[in-house]
Amino acid sequence: MPAPPPSSAGRVQAPHERARPLAKGSIYPAKDLCSQCGLCDSRWVAYVRDSCAFLTQRFEAMERGAHGRSRDLENEDELYFGVQQRMLTARLRQPLEGAQWTGIVSRIGVRALETGLVDAVLCVGQSPEDRFTPVPRLARTPAEVLAARVNKPTLSPNLEVLEQLPGSGIRRLLAIGVGCQIQALRAVQHTLPLDELYVLGLPCVDNVSRQGLQTFLESTVSSPETVVHYEFMQDFRIHFRHSDGRTETVPFFGLDTPRLKDVFAPSCLSCFDYTNAGADLVVGYMGATFGRQWITVRNPRGQVLLDLVAPELEVAPVTSRGDRRAAVQQGIEAYDRAVRLPRWLAELVGFFVQRIGPQGLEYGRFSIDSHFTRNALWVRRHHPGKADAHIPAFAKRIISRYRLPAA
Ligand code: FAD
Ligand code: SF4
Ligand code: SF4
Repeated sequence: MPAPPPSSAGRVQAPHERARPLAKGSIYPAKDLCSQCGLCDSRWVAYVRDSCAFLTQRFEAMERGAHGRSRDLENEDELYFGVQQRMLTARLRQPLEGAQWTGIVSRIGVRALETGLVDAVLCVGQSPEDRFTPVPRLARTPAEVLAARVNKPTLSPNLEVLEQLPGSGIRRLLAIGVGCQIQALRAVQHTLPLDELYVLGLPCVDNVSRQGLQTFLESTVSSPETVVHYEFMQDFRIHFRHSDGRTETVPFFGLDTPRLKDVFAPSCLSCFDYTNAGADLVVGYMGATFGRQWITVRNPRGQVLLDLVAPELEVAPVTSRGDRRAAVQQGIEAYDRAVRLPRWLAELVGFFVQRIGPQGLEYGRFSIDSHFTRNALWVRRHHPGKADAHIPAFAKRIISRYRLPAA
């Protein structure tokens, strides 16, 4: 192999110093599985072979690098939710207007800037033309972080902003992102021009392209064009908020499964990083009871982030209720047959499941089991040669608890 060219100072250049971002719209290395995480839209594409979540599965190495050890597969909480110091539930005493939940993520971003912990926050704003089109940015002020609050529930090229780091003066960064983005970020972390990197993760599942989102909204909600916010809630219903303030809820069990089977991005149908294994701190909702947020502190840096907002939080321990297993097994079979329940039956099933179904951490495990089994089947059917290496050990162990249809 020829020696890399020296820079003008006579120094040997690192691979990213001589790489260029790929052209937008070209075919990216992960091909159909690409989640558009943004790495290839930066010069750090130089490391894509060993960094892309869909080309190389490296959970154990990532966890060891970020947290000092990989998860303990014999510990049920770590098997499901990843390396952790502790889990808790919380809500901001004064919820942030317009945030996805109570706004803990945005408040941490704001406080990280106000306290001088970091110089910038990687977050996702929205296009002025379209509320659901993500625009990643390096926020330098609290107002810019606040402007990025609320989910843009579409694939977002967060890592494209790495391209702006050289020469920006940013040496300490807080990165907010979902699992596939964080896997690639962790893999290139040691090559970034940063002194400090803090990672605040969101759990993530079933993401879609902007076009896919349109199909989902059109098949699910009364007036897709007025939706400004939605979330899959712990009461087994999707809650939509419209621009006129109206709310609308739809039971999970009434979704048009035959039409929606292909709506999720292939990346997300092959993803096993639901709980964001590489983040220092993870803030979601699915392990908490209704109305609260669910927090996993993975390491001391995660605790530093949480401490930024501790005085503003009302906290409570995590709880767990019910038994998810029969519901997960029935869901696997119904999904495979692409069953759509009539609305009245969906409402009835939803009514009972809400009262006697899994809650708290058991709801989180219900969602993980349901998505890992579906995704394992999808990978085995669509990428059979890749399945064994791509599905991580923790997911294989979870999947083995269920009967899956033939691949
Ligand atoms: P806010 O203060 O409103 O801040 C939201 C933050 O999300 C902003 O900082 C913004 O930068 C970031 N963001 C917005 N869109 C994106 C995007 N597309 N990619 C990366 N970052 C983005 N939690 C669960 O428990 N279970 C789930 O299944 C789940 N699925 C999710 C799917 C997606 C696509 C996303 C983006 C999040 C998901 N979450 C899930 C996390 C959850 O919905 C909330 O985002 C989280 O609890 C934080 O709420 P908040 O009010 O503190 O956030
Ligand atoms: Fe590149 Fe990210 Fe797509 Fe992988 S997922 S090919 S790293 S843009
Ligand atoms: Fe990325 Fe997985 Fe979320 Fe899809 S589901 S956007 S692959 S973290």
